[in-house]
Amino acid sequence: MSNLLPSKVVVVGGGAAGFFGAITCAEALAGRGAVTVLERGANVLQKVKISGGGRCNVTHSCFEPKELAKRYPRGGPALIGAFHRFQATDTVKWFEAHGVVLKTEPDGRMFPTTDQSQTIINCLTNAARASGVELRTSCGVERVERRSEGGFRLRLSVGGTLDCDVLLLATGGTKAADVLTSSLGHTIEPPVPSLFTFHIADKRLEGLSGLAVERATVSVAGTKLKETGPVLITHWGLSGPGILRLSAWGARELAAFAYTFSLRVNWLPDHNFESVIALAQAQRGLTGARQVSNVALAGLPSRLWERLVTTAGIAPQTQWAGLTKAQTQTLARLLVESEFAVTGKSMNKEEFVTCGGVRLAEVDFKTMASRVCPGLYFAGELLDIDGITGGFNFQAAWTTGWLAGNAMAERLAAKQV
Ligand SMILES: Cc1cc2nc3c(=O)[nH]c(=O)nc-3n(C[C@H](O)[C@H](O)[C@H](O)COP(=O)(O)OP(=O)(O)OC[C@H]3O[C@@H](n4cnc5c(N)ncnc54)[C@H](O)[C@@H]3O)c2cc1C
Repeated sequence: MSNLLPSKVVVVGGGAAGFFGAITCAEALAGRGAVTVLERGANVLQKVKISGGGRCNVTHSCFEPKELAKRYPRGGPALIGAFHRFQATDTVKWFEAHGVVLKTEPDGRMFPTTDQSQTIINCLTNAARASGVELRTSCGVERVERRSEGGFRLRLSVGGTLDCDVLLLATGGTKAADVLTSSLGHTIEPPVPSLFTFHIADKRLEGLSGLAVERATVSVAGTKLKETGPVLITHWGLSGPGILRLSAWGARELAAFAYTFSLRVNWLPDHNFESVIALAQAQRGLTGARQVSNVALAGLPSRLWERLVTTAGIAPQTQWAGLTKAQTQTLARLLVESEFAVTGKSMNKEEFVTCGGVRLAEVDFKTMASRVCPGLYFAGELLDIDGITGGFNFQAAWTTGWLAGNAMAERLAAKQV
């Protein structure tokens, strides 16, 4: 196949970050330069489609850049400045200006009012078309070379090459990042998964699958990793936002443990051993004649409470008044210091991301430009940035895509390449 016509700007990756970068650049150029998106898959925006259980959790109602940046186990400090230029408020306004209204759920997650990710896909593909972005699907980039005369030459999976002056890499959390960036002088922080659930085979959890505890504190023995939030008992172990947050903050440490470690759970996070003992004594005074297994402390779900009471060796008919000191202490320990052996992980189907990617010190976060290769820009998950669940990963894609798109347009305008 002969070489394709050169393009001023090429974006590799037709995901959220690539689209946002391409649209922003094309809108800023207003016809003064060609922008092409190359996507190796048959369809663009495939992750947007499956995101948020098919509803696409576009962003989070956290509108203070410093606060927003705290939701990123990797990349937070670098993102503070970036969020001052394009943050969640700007995302809401951008989608509104392009015809999509977002709504906020009680936990802060923001979705299109249609509750359909297709709304976001339609919005982005329409905006790309309207701004003149050319989309080429089933067209992967296998290699990137710098041209001696400036710009880049891309070797395509369909055969042939494509030259460009400015290049945005937005290939997501795939190995492609390594292949494409190392030839351009960049370093990749090794990829490991983030946002996963824990495998635990333990009699205390058997038969409780589906049970949600509104607030529990989970921590990893021998580390500083600790999170408080909802925890869900599943048929293979533990999940829920508290566990996912722990997996995100601990992505590297837990990978180093080969996902085999000791997890501590405090089912009553507002209490410690002493205060639970005091709580039990007060309960004894209030409901001394009632069976311990029928009166859960501090609103713990009754099925979990019954299981912990049984595990503590307390007979079903035992009344609060008849609870011995030793039994109270065993129960208190199970309530605030339960230890579970984690033996592996499963990916969270709702949302998972890659920890690792292009080293952030090699990128200028004002423009998302490479510090080592002129004309090269980065956006999205291929960077060593990842957020906790709740719309933060897409927000990083919108922000970095927007910054890169504007900077590429400015570069073209300034240099008139
Ligand atoms: C199941 C699931 C649900 C999720 N839900 C949410 C959510 O609701 N909210 C949220 O904030 N985050 C969510 N995430 C995370 C979010 O989807 C990602 O962080 C985000 O899509 C990253 O965007 P990106 O454009 O950087 O990468 P991607 O979306 O991965 O896009 C990269 C694109 O580049 C293409 N590509 C790769 N290599 C090449 C190459 N060599 N040549 C050409 N093309 C290439 C890929 O095919 C892909 O289309 C979810 C993730 C998953 C897996």
